[in-house]
Amino acid sequence: MSVLSGLKPENVFKYFEEICMIPHGSYNTEKISNYLVDFAKAHSLKHIQDEDGNVIIFKDATEGYENSEPVILQGHMDMVCEKESGVTIDFEKDPLDIYVDGDLIKAKGTTLGGDDGIAVAYALAILDDDSLKHPALEVVITVNEEVGLLGANTIDLSMLKGHTLINIDSEKEGSFLTSCAGGTGLEMNVPVSRTERMGLAVNLKVDGLLGGHSGAEIDKDRANAIILIGRV
Ligand SMILES: [Zn+2]
Repeated sequence: MSVLSGLKPENVFKYFEEICMIPHGSYNTEKISNYLVDFAKAHSLKHIQDEDGNVIIFKDATEGYENSEPVILQGHMDMVCEKESGVTIDFEKDPLDIYVDGDLIKAKGTTLGGDDGIAVAYALAILDDDSLKHPALEVVITVNEEVGLLGANTIDLSMLKGHTLINIDSEKEGSFLTSCAGGTGLEMNVPVSRTERMGLAVNLKVDGLLGGHSGAEIDKDRANAIILIGRV
């Protein structure tokens, strides 16, 4: 029996658990990308997989919705891989060890990848459900979002017909945000002059912080390991 069976909506958590069994950290998205293609093939859905691994899956409108505007559902297939010290997991090869803790799903000693596995799970559950009434669906799942929106940068979206996009990558359950979004990259060069003198190698480690998301918790005045080490 699966760990998440019984949780509702059942199909969403069935797919979420399948996703957790496939290693899918950023830059390691070939398997999860192929999993999406296999899903599309098994459901006879038109799909595109580009050379970076981005996947678009199309589903026709149901009866009565043929003249409605198509809707784009969007998320990303990669996750942030972090583990607690002492945990032995090979994020390249090993599945996550998930469990239910009260009304939360967690992974033992590691990140869960709810960001953004839950978007993929929702999209697949919707595509899988022939009883739902909907306009034409265009499901866009990109690679390497967590490391700079890389998939979103290269994906060719010219074949999409929809003008309404629902991004499933928010931080708060039950809240919908009407917005647009973007990202920017910054390259910084610090000139360094090196000398021949022998020095002392120092290993600098910051820990014991509260943690949190650099976006969602940025207003909470928490210490940030990168900033602290930068100051040192
Ligand atoms: Zn995300």
